[in-house]
Amino acid sequence: MPASLDRGEFYPKVKYWILERFGEDKYNDFRNTLPDAICERMEDADPAKWYPAKDSQVLYEKLFAYFGENYIKDYVKFYTKQAIGGFIRGLVAFMSPLGLAKRAAALWGRFHSTGRVSVEFISKTQGKITLYDWKQSPIHCKVHTNWYAELIRMAGGKNINVEECYCVHKGDDFCRWEVSFDL
Ligand SMILES: [Zn+2]
Repeated sequence: MPASLDRGEFYPKVKYWILERFGEDKYNDFRNTLPDAICERMEDADPAKWYPAKDSQVLYEKLFAYFGENYIKDYVKFYTKQAIGGFIRGLVAFMSPLGLAKRAAALWGRFHSTGRVSVEFISKTQGKITLYDWKQSPIHCKVHTNWYAELIRMAGGKNINVEECYCVHKGDDFCRWEVSFDL
């Protein structure tokens, strides 16, 4: 198995989220809970460079242990706004919610060295999103649940329901989210 790597793009997003929500003192206090290498990377990560996915696992686990899992939604909202601005700006208004999820899925490989995502349309307002060959942390699954909900919301979906029905952390072969919403 090749080592799983992630792009460094999310480290500064985590940093700016903490600074914006909690301020510099909390940010510095939180950084001190991280292993040295990750603590330094919070300040100097190269967004285009690859880093071990294990480190993103450590960072996300520590992040939501420190600030609380009820902040996952807010973090993902913040992250999505920045990510969308970067890679699919302008498309959002023209795409269907599942079309946007599919577009984001096609870009998985740009940010992760392993794993792949497939989006299956059941109807215009119902689909299945499956993540194969990627097993990091259950916290990533919660982040992904919120990420798909946020993408659908940004593309105009309402009354959104995203549920992870299969999960590698529960012994399944893949993680799968069933999504439904109104237009
Ligand atoms: Zn999962």
